[in-house]
Amino acid sequence: MFENVQPAPPDPILGLTEAFKADTNPDKINLGVGVYKDANGTTPVLESVKAAEKTLLETEKTKAYLPIDGSPAYSDAIKALLFPASSPVVAEGRAVTLHAPSGTGALRVAGEYLASNHPESRIWMSTPTWPNHAPIFTAAGVAQEAYPYYDAQGQKLDIDAMLAALDGVKAGDVVLLHGCCHNPSGVDPTPEQWVAIADKLAEKKAVALLDFAYQGFGSGIDEDSVGLHTLAEKLPELIVCTSYSKNFSLYNERIGALTFVAPSADAAKAVLSQVKTVIRRMYSNPPAHGAGIVTTILNDASLRARWEVELAAMRERIQSMRSKLATGLDQRSVQLSATGNGFLTTQRGMFSFSGLNKDHVQKLRAEYAIYIVGSGRINVAGITDNNVDRLCDAIAAVTK
Ligand code: PMP
Repeated sequence: MFENVQPAPPDPILGLTEAFKADTNPDKINLGVGVYKDANGTTPVLESVKAAEKTLLETEKTKAYLPIDGSPAYSDAIKALLFPASSPVVAEGRAVTLHAPSGTGALRVAGEYLASNHPESRIWMSTPTWPNHAPIFTAAGVAQEAYPYYDAQGQKLDIDAMLAALDGVKAGDVVLLHGCCHNPSGVDPTPEQWVAIADKLAEKKAVALLDFAYQGFGSGIDEDSVGLHTLAEKLPELIVCTSYSKNFSLYNERIGALTFVAPSADAAKAVLSQVKTVIRRMYSNPPAHGAGIVTTILNDASLRARWEVELAAMRERIQSMRSKLATGLDQRSVQLSATGNGFLTTQRGMFSFSGLNKDHVQKLRAEYAIYIVGSGRINVAGITDNNVDRLCDAIAAVTK
């Protein structure tokens, strides 16, 4: 059976990490994979996480299975992180939250649920989008459509083209939106644009699927929820896939959640029961540790305060590196767009479409050991005070 199997091509982003690891240049810089790094270029465990883990270790009494949809305490804590207590969605019992193994796992469970229960639904994705979206929904068997999103000339959201394309949405189709910090472009809708998008989906009787992997990495926990809250206010039905890889720095714990908002509490319960059958046949029930950490932090006032400070520090460091990169390029008279480098500081989250082309990306890797994905998307969190000058020099050299 295995004799004639051909090797699969490496994942374009994770494959870059392998190449980076193998590079012996001591000054190498990794701006590829979307992992936050601190000023020293490392991805440490948060102090709030360490403290929560200590508590868990001391108080944990069993390793028995969790329920199929995870622990109720985790679901409640996540719901409270997503929606204010006053939100009608919560008060009316119209939201159900399940524990899922990471954002990727939540997306795949959502896809399997859609394919099993709503086989006519298509999912609409932005151009561009996170490269794993299409494979996840293809594997689940969900048909796909694309809508334009990023205006590469103006480095902004092409809202008119987006809304015009969404006119093609059929009732019961699903529209995938990035909650904040759009990956890969770093460009998010303004609050007014969120209203226009929500109105369009309501008009089309579409369901929004919000991929919310970066809550707190853009402008703040609540500020980054403006899209979610606008959609929840205007649409009767919503799917939210959340990840705690980034904002709790829990990448390898694979911790996320899947929330469904339905028109009534009874409908929400029925959806929950269907999603549980999907999970049962996929992985039966979720792993406990990551959820234990997140629940412990969110339910303890002092740990939560500590986490919020740590989250703000990550967010602010990314913003400061965006400014340093833009200033460094300005000083070297390098313009990454027709309008200069200002776009680097207005984009939000870890990612930026730098405007560097394939040729630049190749030269940066071959000649300077600087690793960037082929689209020119850079992970700004890979920049530090120690490497920003070298990075700017190299960009100046390859773009001359
Ligand atoms: N959605 C988006 C947009 C992402 O960028 C990522 C991580 N790169 C994820 C989902 C999934 O993250 P994870 O599976 O680590 O939770």
